[in-house]
Amino acid sequence: MEYRYLGKSGLQVSALSLGSWLTFGKQIGDDVAEQLMITAYEAGVNFFDNAEIYARGESERVMGRILKKMNWPRSSYLVSSKVFFGYEDDLPNQRGLSRKHIFEACDAALQRLQVEYLDLYFCHRPDPNTPIEETVRAMNDLLRQGKIFYWGTSEWSAQEIMEAHMVARQYNLIGPVMEQPQYNLFHRKRVEEEYKRIYESTGLGLTIWSPLASGTLTPKYLKGMPSELTRLQMENLDWLRELVLKEERIEKAAKLNELAKQIGATLPQLALAWCLKNPHVSTVILGASKVEQLQENLKALEVVPLLTDEVLQQIEAIVA
Ligand code: NDP
Repeated sequence: MEYRYLGKSGLQVSALSLGSWLTFGKQIGDDVAEQLMITAYEAGVNFFDNAEIYARGESERVMGRILKKMNWPRSSYLVSSKVFFGYEDDLPNQRGLSRKHIFEACDAALQRLQVEYLDLYFCHRPDPNTPIEETVRAMNDLLRQGKIFYWGTSEWSAQEIMEAHMVARQYNLIGPVMEQPQYNLFHRKRVEEEYKRIYESTGLGLTIWSPLASGTLTPKYLKGMPSELTRLQMENLDWLRELVLKEERIEKAAKLNELAKQIGATLPQLALAWCLKNPHVSTVILGASKVEQLQENLKALEVVPLLTDEVLQQIEAIVA
């Protein structure tokens, strides 16, 4: 495994990490979740990503039980949660980035994950209804209380991240250390263009999500819907299917699949290695519904050296 610093911080995170969105507590059984975490950990993965909204708290409960059972040294892994979308109903104060919800959500996540502190805590989306100062202060109070070690954002604009840093500077507080944006061969603009001007000034590290665009950067949709049950056939995920399963993308995936074969890799490995090539990426968060998928994806690190300038140009010509 390769380890990278989380932006300008002193924290080292495995270049490949494991997330639990739509899988833990939902698509897969707890036994599979356990096998995934063991496979990842044994391969050197040190970061497990979670959020209050994932299966409405159930994903954190599953992960917490596995962490407890495995009893790995707490210093050997990082675990995250994210606050914003809520885990209960949708009553006022049960979501958002108010001081009240941030404090209550953090305590609830700690309980579900059965840990004393979260290594990384993300504001899962910006909250236009809460003053940024309130959110920055609440995150800093959690830092001071030792309940979280690093705080960051997810899907915030460059301007919103800068505002958080300016408030932090003004009051001698700590600004967000990391961002969690979507980044893959089909979704690049924010990471490559919008954030370009703030990497240096803020020292931002990236923990990127959906590196395989929810499975569309694998060969499984090249010949229509597969017979096995996959994420894009799950109930209530029509919105996601409509968002990612587009004709144009499938055509590109087919060409990328051929290119992957030429260099002796699989399509998911090529797509993940391409993400790893970006030096601003601290970690690529993997998702998997099967242990074999994770095993295949973990080999992406070996594919990085195969992405020569020439291969990168070929990729660019396909996805442009
Ligand atoms: P991906 O885009 O990599 O999608 C993962 C899914 O693709 C798997 O669950 C599996 O689904 C399929 N897959 C993965 N590997 C293979 C393979 N080798 N062959 C065939 N199919 C494969 O990542 P996710 O969308 O899951 O995102 C990763 C993590 O990022 C999440 O778990 C979460 O922690 C985080 N995240 C954060 C968000 C945020 O807003 N901050 C939003 C979304 C995710 P299947 O078998 O069902 O097809």
